[in-house]
Amino acid sequence: MPGLASRFEKAAAMEDITLRPLIVAKIRDSRLPGTTPPHVWGGPGHGAACSACEDTISKRQREIEAVLVGGTTFMFHVHCFQLWDEEREAVQDAEPRTVVTARKRGESTCGCPPAPQPTG
Ligand SMILES: [Zn+2]
Repeated sequence: MPGLASRFEKAAAMEDITLRPLIVAKIRDSRLPGTTPPHVWGGPGHGAACSACEDTISKRQREIEAVLVGGTTFMFHVHCFQLWDEEREAVQDAEPRTVVTARKRGESTCGCPPAPQPTG
């Protein structure tokens, strides 16, 4: 059914236009986590509100439950979770990172000449 499929794709793309900026704003405001959740489960919805779009995840839909370190739980529609997952990485990449200069190995840090090698 190519007609139905393309109509669904179009609807999903329209959703992204409004959802994506909302999810990005929430990540920046820390309303959504910007870190990778260590535990993620999927299952049938049970009427919880989606952490991304704030719509109810109905029993006919599937929900994704993301549990962070410390036990904070976020619920998502499958599609919202995918968008969050993508944007989380994009936001992390855009954040200025602390520049870590790797200390060169084997170089003297005190400026002393190398110790004489024992002979014999
Ligand atoms: Zn949602």
